[in-house]
Amino acid sequence: MQNDRHEHHDARLLAIDDSELIHQLLRGRLRNERIQIHAATNAADGLQLARVLLPDVILLDIDMPDRNGFDIIQDLKADPTTHDIPVIFFSSDANVDTKIRGFELGAVDFVTKPFEVAELKARVNSAIRLSRLVRMLAQRAQVDGLTGLWNRAYFDWRLGEEVAIAERHCNDLALIFCDLDRFKGVNDTYGHPFGDQVLERFGLLLAHGRKGDIACRYGGEEFGIILPETNAQEAANVAERLLVDLRSMTWRRDPGLAITASFGITDLRRVHPRTTAALVESADRALYAAKARGRNCVAVSDDPPQARLTA
Ligand code: GH3
Ligand code: MG
Ligand code: MG
Repeated sequence: MQNDRHEHHDARLLAIDDSELIHQLLRGRLRNERIQIHAATNAADGLQLARVLLPDVILLDIDMPDRNGFDIIQDLKADPTTHDIPVIFFSSDANVDTKIRGFELGAVDFVTKPFEVAELKARVNSAIRLSRLVRMLAQRAQVDGLTGLWNRAYFDWRLGEEVAIAERHCNDLALIFCDLDRFKGVNDTYGHPFGDQVLERFGLLLAHGRKGDIACRYGGEEFGIILPETNAQEAANVAERLLVDLRSMTWRRDPGLAITASFGITDLRRVHPRTTAALVESADRALYAAKARGRNCVAVSDDPPQARLTA
């Protein structure tokens, strides 16, 4: 997989509590747990740290002078970046209604003060396991199972992000569409399992391209590569290299077999309006032109590039 967002690091715990004493206590008691402890003593710092750190778990005090824990959890749950972080409420108020309110607002657990260290550890570790599971599932939903590349849903989202960034900074942004040639014939001749192997190996080739380029499986035997800060001409060089690398691959199944692909290229300067839909359409048209030209080649959109506004 190309991203390492859930590689094992020490778990991060964010404690939001107005009492310095509690922070000291936590640091002392959880010292040997492979948990990094971060502390905030008010709501504003807590919310800010939560967004920056993306901790694995948040311990949230209910009774605080400025804004209470119930307010804070609502902000955490309303923000997509912090929405999935498990929150454990922390309170000296063990009233059933208080606990129920906490769970209703999205907390995963409740610990009453004064706390038993062993129990707190167990609850924190349980929440951390949950948090890792949620992250892994969220990531899996964005990755293509066969190739390990980003999938279509991720492509759509990321292209939107990159268009917005490019517009904001007046950067170039190129898009490569790529489709394996006569792939139906490959399946028909050698069988689907072999076709899958071809897709896997081609996926590896794309995944090891230039750093910063975002390779996705768009669907079937079609792939999309988003190239930030790159124009169509530079993207064409990238595609030419892929074309050569693919042609030089050998296939044990049939040493005489040559798998080829066609590439269509565009960039943000060539599309009007400068939207994701226009980019995709333009790259698709270029790809169609490459197919029409005889396949196994690279075609750049023939729309003339417009000068970019400068920042
Ligand atoms: P062209 O050069 O015009 O692109 O011809 P093509 O045969 O590649 O195009 P077509 O769209 O007719 O066929 C695409 C083929 O890709 C058909 C489909 O079975 C195959 N394919 C799509 N997804 C997979 C997959 O996950 N595994 C395998 N083995 N084949 C797949
Ligand atoms: Mg094809
Ligand atoms: Mg196709």
